Amino acid sequence: MITKEQLIAMNGRGELHYTGSRECKCKVGPRGGIHLRITKVRLNGRCKTWKRNQEQFRQSVIYGIRIAFHIEQRNAADFHSPKDCPALRSAGHYESAVKFTKSLT
Ligand SMILES: [Zn+2]
Repeated sequence: MITKEQLIAMNGRGELHYTGSRECKCKVGPRGGIHLRITKVRLNGRCKTWKRNQEQFRQSVIYGIRIAFHIEQRNAADFHSPKDCPALRSAGHYESAVKFTKSLT
């Protein structure tokens, strides 16, 4: 779950995990190798909000290099920030997993 406040705080930068098609998975192999199965999306510009309807928001995101879509109230449950990722946390290797994903990008 991602909230409007989190999206505003991210200020149009960073990435989120999308769990609408599959859950995040993180496996640590026998020799300490980390296998991540995470669908990542990048924020594309700031979160749009409305004065009339405080609950409403729309955040544009990009998946891959050309697939763009929006996060809104109706699908906010399908996203979470890497910090809130249950897969990275459960593996107990959050820091190394983050380092690993950074080395890929
Ligand atoms: Zn995740």
